Amino acid sequence: MYLVCPSCTATNRIPNERLRDEPVCGKCGHALMAAQPVAISEQALPKFIAD
Ligand SMILES: [Zn+2]
Repeated sequence: MYLVCPSCTATNRIPNERLRDEPVCGKCGHALMAAQPVAISEQALPKFIAD
């Protein structure tokens, strides 16, 4: 899959088998998984979209 770096916005192709290994950006070394909104539940998401 592809992950966009939250630090430099570079697109990184990450093999599925490496997703659990905390992949980092190949350009700047920032942790890519930090970009995922893990703190937002599915129930809370519609509120963000509505605003
Ligand atoms: Zn980066």
